[in-house]
Amino acid sequence: MKITDLRASLLKHPLPGEFHPTWGTGLVLTELPMTLIQLETEEGITGYGALPANSLEGVVGVNVFIRNSLIGKDLFNTEEIGKVLRNASLRMTWPWGVEMAVWDAIGKACGQPVYKFWGGYQDKIKIYASLGEVRSAEERAEDALRLKEQGFAGIKLRFRNDDPKEDLKVVEAVLKAVGDSMAIMVDANQADALPGSSAFREWDYATAIRVGRELQQMGVLWLEEPLPRFELKGLQKLSDELDIMIAGGEKNQMVHEFKMLIDNDCYDILQGDASFSEGIFQLRKIAALAEANHKLFIPHTWCNCISLYANLQLAASLPNCPWFEYPYEEPGWGHPANHILFKEPFKFENGYVHVPQSPGLGFEIDEERLKNYIVPLPEELE
Ligand SMILES: [Mg+2]
Repeated sequence: MKITDLRASLLKHPLPGEFHPTWGTGLVLTELPMTLIQLETEEGITGYGALPANSLEGVVGVNVFIRNSLIGKDLFNTEEIGKVLRNASLRMTWPWGVEMAVWDAIGKACGQPVYKFWGGYQDKIKIYASLGEVRSAEERAEDALRLKEQGFAGIKLRFRNDDPKEDLKVVEAVLKAVGDSMAIMVDANQADALPGSSAFREWDYATAIRVGRELQQMGVLWLEEPLPRFELKGLQKLSDELDIMIAGGEKNQMVHEFKMLIDNDCYDILQGDASFSEGIFQLRKIAALAEANHKLFIPHTWCNCISLYANLQLAASLPNCPWFEYPYEEPGWGHPANHILFKEPFKFENGYVHVPQSPGLGFEIDEERLKNYIVPLPEELE
């Protein structure tokens, strides 16, 4: 089945409230931009994907480096398409969302959710609320009780206080509130920061191991990004010294970089992302490499609603993915941010997310609502 068109548009939707992401110290987000990808086929099937965006960079990249190479290609030649995207990635911002559109169209052509023909390992996955801001111990204790009530099996806290002892007090308060009825994860977000962020206290190895030991004592499930992305020796030593699982890799790129992380035993949990790391099918290779090395692969999912659903299909197809990350921080990043373009949100209850069963990536776009968020392009990009 031939690809007949590939369109990229800039889309911006409002967030339900102000969002102060931990990974962007000093920044306040009130809307979410993305590059929407629409792929058309000769049989009239439309596949949707999305790239992370700030402005028009994704639209320009797709139009200049990808569009003409994909039109006329067979939709099912996904390895060939993957190579086009890898080459394009050397010249533009993350192009991986184009592959989402390819798989969405393939799923629709086959009448199956993508995870089914990738292995169909699990129809439901334990879900954790991945919080995005730094708040007080008292607030987080209340949040944890509310999130448990809402059906989350775990909660991920952000560490970004100048003094990590303040962060540890938050874990203590949450533990006191929910005991061992919820899993607790901690993300130190030391691998990168959003452009325009203010400075934050960066951890060295001594800080990372000190905090890691405390968290281990408290029974925290994993510590994420405790050191900069390429501090391989430090990460390896940390993983070796500590029993608590070390997680990371959300902004690492492509199979070979993940192989390096696996070969060096940097992480127990690899967290590639369908938007930031590689095409979604390539991530299955990384997950297989992780599996063969007795490691978990639990995708990072903070990006946009289409990317969240794509990562869910990936997670549902994997035998070594016991958790699913749900980005959630009321009021800024509430449920609407995760489902805003779709007719129906996926369901979660009693600690599990139910993998949507509709063909493709598991969402049905609300075309009317979508129109409200499309930003008109300058004439030269039409
Ligand atoms: Mg993270």
